[in-house]
This record gives sequence, structure tokens and C-alpha cells, in this order.
Amino acid sequence: MELIRSLVALRSRAEEARASARTVGLVPTMGALHAGHASLVQRAARECGAVVVTLFVNPLQFGPSEDLATYPRDLATDSVAAAGAGATHLFAPDAGEMYPSGFSTSVRVAGPTEVLEGDSRPGHFEGVTTVVAKLLAATGPCRAYLGEKDFQQLVVVRRMVADLSLPAEVVGCPIVREADGLALSSRNARLGETGRSPASALWRSLRAGRDLVESGEQAPGRVRSAMGAILRAEPLVSVGYAEVVDPETLMAPESIEGEVRLLVAATVGGTRLIDNVAACGPSG
Ligand code: AMP
Repeated sequence: MELIRSLVALRSRAEEARASARTVGLVPTMGALHAGHASLVQRAARECGAVVVTLFVNPLQFGPSEDLATYPRDLATDSVAAAGAGATHLFAPDAGEMYPSGFSTSVRVAGPTEVLEGDSRPGHFEGVTTVVAKLLAATGPCRAYLGEKDFQQLVVVRRMVADLSLPAEVVGCPIVREADGLALSSRNARLGETGRSPASALWRSLRAGRDLVESGEQAPGRVRSAMGAILRAEPLVSVGYAEVVDPETLMAPESIEGEVRLLVAATVGGTRLIDNVAACGPSG
């Protein structure tokens, strides 16, 4: 696996791969790689001849009170994990490479950024779409692998790629979970002994919501209440949201028909967690 530090080198490696008929798979991450990230890299390695993992803790997507300074950074460990999962290239730029002095462009997607995470994290998605647009512009035609763990981010990036006619195929990948259902996240390490068990309430609430939808409940309000009640029953959990939305627009439906997405956000002892699941109601 080759370590790349510059956007120019990223572009030329991607061009070389395509010139030798290899599809380029791109896996954008902020590092602190775990088995969830590895599943994306492994899938990219199965489907593409060249696999670029990007590792950049993007300052633009962190709010002023968020954990940019303490976000885990360990290039040596991440290199081993990326190579082990099948990456051929690791792109790890510094902030000056991505945002040199004078940088003043921002990519803003309306619509799906204005709900859910967008309500509590102003500017977050603008930071995400700006960095992903830059990565896609440098890489050129590719398949971009994103996790459903950040379901809203996946919807927003798909929207941006379609709206800007970027030459990328966005591939959504399933969530990797712990045995008790907790979705793997770089932030789980912060939960400690006391937060670990309450954190499993997120998955329990999603499962209960999915069971309700799949047993024919069509009122989004009743599904939201059932999910919220499970989260609120845990003293250490403070609920951000528990929502039922259309999986493409992220808007709340009047009545549940066909596929919906259930999403929850909660803070557990100071650590903010998000999770989601698909559920299929009557087809209408
Ligand atoms: P991050 O480093 O947290 O920005 O995540 C990089 C990519 O890995 C994003 O596309 C995430 O959705 C994805 N990802 C993170 N956690 C998981 C997980 N538990 N299962 C699947 N994909 C994940």
C-alpha cells in the first residue's frame, strides 16, 4: 500500500489505475479505523482494482463545541488496518493540503441537510460535502463507498453527486454492529464501562420501531413515541431525536407505506451517538 500526501499524487495514481483498466474505489474516512471501516474497504477491494482509503480529520465538519481536538489520530495503526483490509493507497493529507491559505469555497446541499443532524449541527454537512467534493474532484471517475451508519450523510452525498454530475457511483454499505447491536463507531471508546450498556438502547429502540412498522403500524407518531420511550427509560441517555423518514428525501411521511428509515440520536454520558435501520411497512 502506498501512502499519498498530496492531491496531485492522488489524481495521478487514480489516472494510472484507470489507464490500466482498474476501477478506482474510494473510501473516505476520518481514521481511527475499526471493523465498520474495514467492511467498506473489503467491499471496495472485491469490486475495484485500486482502492484508495482517505484519512483526514476534516476541521470544516466539526462545530466549535465538538471534539475536533480530541478526535483520535494514529496514522501508523490506521495504515496497518487499511492495508489489511485491501487498500492499495492511503491518502492522508494535512489540513494545509486540503485547505491552503485563501481557500474560500464551500459546497452546500439544501433539502436533506436541513433535518435531523442538520438541526443540531449547523454547518456540519457543508463541511462534509466540501471535503467529499474535493476528494471526488481529485480522484476522478470512481466508486465511492460510504456507510449506512451515517445514513443522512449518504443521502446528502448522493444528492450532491447527482446535482453536480460528478463521475462517481456512490455505494451504500451496511452497518457493522457489536454483538449487542451497538453500531461500531470511533466514538464508542469514550463510552467507558458505565456508558456501554445504556448505549445499547439505541439499537433496542430501532428494533422496537422496526418491529412495529413491520407488524403494520402506519402512524409515524406511534413509532416515534415507542422508540423515544425506550431511549428515555435509560437514565444515562439523553435523546436527540427518534424519527421515521422517507429514505430518499428524509422527510417525515404522513403515513407509513413501503420502505422507511428509522433514525435515532442520543448522548450517552457526554458521547453523542447516532444509528438507524430500514423498515418496511405495507406497500400501500
Ligand atoms: P468516519 O471515519 O466516521 O467519517 O466514517 C467513514 C465511513 O465509514 C463513513 O462512510 C461511515 O458511514 C462508515 N462507517 C463508520 N462506522 C461504520 C459502521 N459501524 N458500519 C459501516 N460503516 C461505518
